[in-house]
Amino acid sequence: MKTIIEPFKIKSVEPIRFTTKEERINILEEAGFNPFLIKADDVLIDLLTDSGTSAMSSMQWAGIMQGDESYAGSRSFYRFEAMVKKITGLKYVIPTHQGRAAEKILFSITGGKGKFIPNNTHFDTTRANIEYTNAEAVDLLNETGKHPEIRADFKGNMDIEKLESFIKETGPENIPLVMMTVTNNSGGGQPVSMQNIREAKAVCVKYNLPFFLDACRFAENAYFIKMREPGYRDKPLLEIAQEMFSYCDGMTMSAKKDALVNIGGFLAMNDSTLAMNCRNLLIVTEGFPTYGGLAGRDLEAIAQGLEEVLDEHYLEYRIRSIEYLGEKILAEGVPIIEPPGGHAIYLDAKRFLPHVPQEQFPGQSIVCELYTEGGIRSVEIGSVMFGKKDANGKLIPPPMELVRLAIPRRVYTQSHIDYVVEIILEVFKNRKNIKGYEITYEAPMLRHFTAKFRPVK
Ligand SMILES: *Cc1c(COP(=O)(O)O)cnc(C)c1O
Repeated sequence: MKTIIEPFKIKSVEPIRFTTKEERINILEEAGFNPFLIKADDVLIDLLTDSGTSAMSSMQWAGIMQGDESYAGSRSFYRFEAMVKKITGLKYVIPTHQGRAAEKILFSITGGKGKFIPNNTHFDTTRANIEYTNAEAVDLLNETGKHPEIRADFKGNMDIEKLESFIKETGPENIPLVMMTVTNNSGGGQPVSMQNIREAKAVCVKYNLPFFLDACRFAENAYFIKMREPGYRDKPLLEIAQEMFSYCDGMTMSAKKDALVNIGGFLAMNDSTLAMNCRNLLIVTEGFPTYGGLAGRDLEAIAQGLEEVLDEHYLEYRIRSIEYLGEKILAEGVPIIEPPGGHAIYLDAKRFLPHVPQEQFPGQSIVCELYTEGGIRSVEIGSVMFGKKDANGKLIPPPMELVRLAIPRRVYTQSHIDYVVEIILEVFKNRKNIKGYEITYEAPMLRHFTAKFRPVK
């Protein structure tokens, strides 16, 4: 097989700034050993997130100039709306400034005390927006999805039996809707199969419940279906995406992922009453329904991005570049969530640093080493982010200690990824000397963003 190459050439470049290891040691110490507090200019390869970090195409930039900034009835809105309808088939399309704004509107209307929203795994903003209304967010991920070392095709799938028994126990009248996140971001970017979507829908039909997709990475999910699920190999990606959406009654979306833009989001649905309620709330919190917190130019760029993201060559390159990074480090024994997901590689910090106890944040140690060694910024997804405390202040760790290396779309080339491989292997080779950390400052909520650390003596 020939090398899968980047399916684009580069017209505009942005220099990245090199620093010495000594400089990075100082920068990291000044940032309290928390890479969220490092200036982006001091980062060489930034793998903090794939959200809003995509490179736009020349056509998208041209769209920025074409944007119609009319307050109401903008031409750019109609182009955006037509594109979303073409892919999703949903009747009512409502733009918002980000994915979480779509969630906020949807759950302000459907949530509330005594309500339950099942999902394969709720993303953190989705969970937060549900809990903010005093409703409960329930994760019903299938069992294999919870084991990093088990290789399976669709580790993002929902446990359909659990879904049905949950609906029976809770009572369908207490469940305003069922959600499914594609791909499953919080579970390692793992895909959901068409069969699983179909089965979840069938259960929803049986109990007369609306079925919603959290569709941030719908195109990456469609590509996995094409490659892994029988019967889809010869189907165009647009048709696969259309089939995925044909089973849903509505969706939320962060355009900062698979719409290949730096800001934006939307929600869409078939229920006219729900759409009317959403639009009424949208006017209070986001703006008039034909711009919803975005400029006309943003809507133009989203429409163009949605057109580009379903390109076969783009998705082949996209999924392959993640897999390539995963394969290279796996071959040298580096423990990761297997198989690689659609947007990121997750290092398994427990197996990477077995000598560092969870109380000393092994994930944070790896994050710090990757920065010091190579100027690479990653993020801990473990006890720093999700750790809770018991009555004595002792850590209650989450099930997994992970380090996420999220790959921005169309931003880095293969040589950047080769460099990332070299740095990870260098850190892995020296792993016995890596020490843990302790927290010196933490905020009462979402502490990972602002916490400060020091190395354990
Ligand atoms: C990013 C993301 C969101 C939230 O979108 P924002 O644009 O960051 O507000 C919701 N769900 C999933 C699965 C996401 O990845």
